[in-house]
Amino acid sequence: MLIIYPPLSKGCEPPAALPYLSAALTAHGHSCTICDMNIECLQHILHSTEGATDTWSSRAFKHLDNNLATLQDLDNYHNFDRYGRAVADINRVLEIAGMRLNLQLSLANYQDNEKSPLNSSDLRQAAKDFHANIFFPYFSEKLEELLQQEHHNHIGFSLSYLSQALCAFAMIGYLRVHHPDITIILGGGLVTTWLSKPGWHTPFADLVHHFVAGQGEKPLLRLLGTEQKMDHLRPSYAALRDNPYLAPGFILPYATSTGCFWKKCNFCPETSENNPYRQVPPTTTAADLMSLTKATKPILIHLLDNAISPSTLRALSEQPPGAPWYGFVRIDAHLADREFCRRLRASGCVMLKLGLESGDQKVLNSMNKGTDLRQASKVLENLHEAGIATYVYLLFGTPSETRKEAERTRSFVEKHHQAISFLNLAIFNLPISSDEIASLQVTDFYTGDLSMYRNFNHPLGWDRAEVRRYLHTTFKRSAKIAEILRKDPPIFTSNHAPFMK
Ligand code: SF4
Repeated sequence: MLIIYPPLSKGCEPPAALPYLSAALTAHGHSCTICDMNIECLQHILHSTEGATDTWSSRAFKHLDNNLATLQDLDNYHNFDRYGRAVADINRVLEIAGMRLNLQLSLANYQDNEKSPLNSSDLRQAAKDFHANIFFPYFSEKLEELLQQEHHNHIGFSLSYLSQALCAFAMIGYLRVHHPDITIILGGGLVTTWLSKPGWHTPFADLVHHFVAGQGEKPLLRLLGTEQKMDHLRPSYAALRDNPYLAPGFILPYATSTGCFWKKCNFCPETSENNPYRQVPPTTTAADLMSLTKATKPILIHLLDNAISPSTLRALSEQPPGAPWYGFVRIDAHLADREFCRRLRASGCVMLKLGLESGDQKVLNSMNKGTDLRQASKVLENLHEAGIATYVYLLFGTPSETRKEAERTRSFVEKHHQAISFLNLAIFNLPISSDEIASLQVTDFYTGDLSMYRNFNHPLGWDRAEVRRYLHTTFKRSAKIAEILRKDPPIFTSNHAPFMK
């Protein structure tokens, strides 16, 4: 089987699903090739685009190799101006390449001005017009090369983000025309969301033979006629380790769990999709990470969990993985323990991502967040004191929020500005399968049958336009908040934040 990660997403680390799938298939006696087509296509387009139109673009083309090298050297992450210039200039080359085909192309996004990934008819059109895809010259040649090296009866695509969908379908379209006997399988986070939509019927029956929701190991093995015997297998990064990722070293992605052990926040797809929670036993995680660290020598470990469990954090603090690490955690009692935070730092924890969402207790309660603001203050203080950076996520425009509550969030952030290293500001989207839909007046949000969110009339009048205005004219204008926002790595945000000082 051949498994492909299609463009386009941030090319700073290997796609996590492929090393897991390849380990499972191989351990059960099947041959498996994995290909990160994302980083390969990105590098190809960067190096094959020519023709500057203005001074900035000329500089971007001229210094492309230097700029790519800048992102691969850790020292440059401590010089924010140099880092920012390199990112902006690399991005400029992609922008120019995209413009020629009416695309908005960037290091993190693929947006077609004529086709939407939220529309199944547009995805079908992308499959039909595969030769018009910007990456066609590269992916067609690469697919042929891979198929010549080994005959694959099955090709799987791992689709995590919307920004990958049009390119994935272009590749599928190519394969259906040139290799009609190959079985096409589509899985990944985005596909899991599609399949969780009430009344889902595939509009792609003639293009895709099998869809996989959630973890792919068991369904893929079944497709190959094998029952899964080994539950947890250590992922294998050998095939991806030496790809030219846009990072100052190899970043090792690892999931200590899938799903969420809390699964109660009513704005979250984990809750509405009711995804099962599975945790790798903490001792296994600790042993895996120690072994993988020895084998791959990562500069950073990225723990991919929606929320790393307290028991796993404890295991890591007792058995440090041997490389710096970061990930998402819930604001909980264990982090209110100052000693525990110090032990985490000693184990290599350099940054924790925290879904604070709001600085108003009533809003937190109404979203079932299970966070106590007094505890959140203590946690921020402890992490700051321990030397662990924090990436704090805020959510505005939830059904129980008004400007008054948003102002409380502003006060909370200002009060804790020294303990908040980075901030992510988002405006609430209502997941299509959320239970809250029953109590809200909803309308269609995006035009497209694959839309994952619904628009709603805010019950207290705090609608998206108002929220956006508030963020621009008030929240981001706060001097203390502006200072935090300025430190956010452009485009790569939390993926590169652990490297910043
Ligand atoms: S803790 Fe995070 S992942 Fe879990 S339900 Fe809440 S928002 Fe979702």
